[in-house]
Amino acid sequence: MEILSLSPAVKRAIWGGDRLRTVWGYETDLDRPAESWLLSCHPAGPSTVKNGVYAGKTLIEAIEAEGIGVLGTHNVDKPGFPILIKLIDAKDKLSVQVHPGDDYARRVENENGKTEAWLVLEAEPGAELVYGVNAKTDRRAFRRHIKNGTLETVLNRVPVKAGDVAFIPAGTLHAIGAGILIAEVQQSSNTTYRVYDYNRREPDGSLRPLHIDKALDVVDLTVPTRGFQPEGEPVPVGDAEKTLLASCPFFTMTNVSLEGTVDDVSDETSFVSLVVLEGEGELECGDEFLPLRKGDSVFIPAGKGDYTLTGNLRLLETRT
Ligand code: ZN
Repeated sequence: MEILSLSPAVKRAIWGGDRLRTVWGYETDLDRPAESWLLSCHPAGPSTVKNGVYAGKTLIEAIEAEGIGVLGTHNVDKPGFPILIKLIDAKDKLSVQVHPGDDYARRVENENGKTEAWLVLEAEPGAELVYGVNAKTDRRAFRRHIKNGTLETVLNRVPVKAGDVAFIPAGTLHAIGAGILIAEVQQSSNTTYRVYDYNRREPDGSLRPLHIDKALDVVDLTVPTRGFQPEGEPVPVGDAEKTLLASCPFFTMTNVSLEGTVDDVSDETSFVSLVVLEGEGELECGDEFLPLRKGDSVFIPAGKGDYTLTGNLRLLETRT
């Protein structure tokens, strides 16, 4: 299978900004483009192939035509496509939410659970995330806070800056604050239990639904201890510096900063996703060649072998 260059599904939301169009160059007519789904086989927003024999098809159509082997040995026994990668532009804050783990999600929603990780790409001064609760609490007290409109008093709010990494296991209460643009890697799932939406109304006056009972079934009410640094230290490889951002049973997320040339490999275990965060360059693999520029998303099939990256580039590399 050829290496695929992907075009994202762009999604609107009440809290979205305009930077995905004006800064990142994604084409959309939406008034508040909030998310670009850069690597997606999810039916709610599939990525589309831009190049080669599958041009115009969705990524899932290309994978189905080639066979599941292109996902790698780590994925042949998993249901569906394993991950979803997005850019999220939060001009306004997102609702406070929680996602279920695999067991609950498969039983109740017939979907994957959702563990996710965020790399902060842009943050206005004073911007913050909600990350868990700020003191251990129990389900009765938590429900009472939701009912009384006092939930904000128990949320753990953390100021963030560009380069911070938030790892969000299923069950962690979380929200992206206003003025933040992130890259997100998550399990491929669209199951979100909204706990609190700041009493915001859609343009037609409606409130978005909350999912209090399900959220209480899955939420972890202990205080999180993990910090916001990358998981690993920078490691020089060729002309690049690679930093492990986050790893878990579902994905491994690495920042690659390159000035020059670096060789890498797509082995039999997993496909490789590359998202260009900054700069320009190119990808060469045998007789295949792809130019790379900010915002591009590339799918390298498992077992493709050696490839070379050249240029001044910052990339988000994800493997499963
Ligand atoms: Zn989430």
